Amino acid sequence: MRRSFRFLLRPTARQAAALPACLEDHRMLYHAALEHRRTAYARAGVSVRYGKQPAELKHIRADDPDGQARWSFSSQQATLRRLDRAFRAFFDRVRAGRTPGFPRFKGRGRFDTVEWPKDGDGCRSDSQPGHPTVAYVRLQGVGHVRVHRHRTVKGRVRTIAVKREGNRWFVVLSCDDVPAEPLPATGAVAGIDMGVASLVTTSDGGRVANARHLAATAGRLADAQRDLARRKRGSQRRRKAVTRAAALHAKVRRQRLDGAHKAALALVRTYDVIVHEDLRIANMTRSASGTMEAPGRNVAAESGLNRSILDAGWGMFLTILAHKAESAGRTLIAVNPTGTSRTCARCGHSAKENRVTQAAFACTACGHAAHADVNAAINILRAGLALRRAAEAA
Ligand SMILES: [Zn+2]
Repeated sequence: MRRSFRFLLRPTARQAAALPACLEDHRMLYHAALEHRRTAYARAGVSVRYGKQPAELKHIRADDPDGQARWSFSSQQATLRRLDRAFRAFFDRVRAGRTPGFPRFKGRGRFDTVEWPKDGDGCRSDSQPGHPTVAYVRLQGVGHVRVHRHRTVKGRVRTIAVKREGNRWFVVLSCDDVPAEPLPATGAVAGIDMGVASLVTTSDGGRVANARHLAATAGRLADAQRDLARRKRGSQRRRKAVTRAAALHAKVRRQRLDGAHKAALALVRTYDVIVHEDLRIANMTRSASGTMEAPGRNVAAESGLNRSILDAGWGMFLTILAHKAESAGRTLIAVNPTGTSRTCARCGHSAKENRVTQAAFACTACGHAAHADVNAAINILRAGLALRRAAEAA
């Protein structure tokens, strides 16, 4: 199995100055290579291939011994490959007859990651393994940086990335051969309904709330984004607003990640089989049918912008759930959620009128009353079990 581990870095003052310099030099390299390709494309309509650019990288490093030459050749190559991917996607879209935007310069705030493609090459994931209490990662040109390693790294470290989020720095270790850790069977199965007020509602009536404080932070982020939209480009106030929005964005992301991990872990521990909505279909039907119109009693979720910030967590949650389910040997089934929120789980009668409010379900045919999310989760579970039976019979 492949898995990533993300840890907060605790750089010294000197390292805290070197990290932005490393990021900035990689950004400048990205721009130089982009400019080169842009010129070649504009002059002759030719695309410079990735293969040519590492040769030039050698010259760039030779010409700039105190600048670009400080960093790892391999991390710089990885940056050039990243540009290469952007160009490939661009030309694919051109070939498909569309008119995509040319790959763009990335502003300071939009270039936030440096990747080392191979542990041991210009970097070392556990650079002082003998140290009794503290973990370090060595990054060429930066030094041995202290890592807040709050959990054990498993498997073999393949790549190392450093990421800036607001004013914090993180290291992401991407590992291969991470051993699975199967959990004992519980005999329990569940369908889950994903929502705004509660991240997850299960078919047996359990509710996992969105991470505490998440709605409040999302509200502040929505305010910050509105404030940002009012500021004039290039103004001092705008720069401040950008910094504030970025910091809140990072905070929402951390809180959401934390909540998603906890919710996914609880589900995987409890159930052998978990059925969820297929998110691609769910997103389409949700916006069309407007079932998210009334977000319930979650006051902070009132504004559309705020709601969309909260909504964005579902994809992340399902990704985390899929990883944990695979590791634990659990079965995950995705079903088409169409009709699951308006169909009665007792008699099968399906009507828009069954849905009294966002929270309440009352069947107009048989009188069955339930929490709307629980009713939907039961329908989701049934659809999943039917799919599984059909697959076993085939
Ligand atoms: Zn009914």
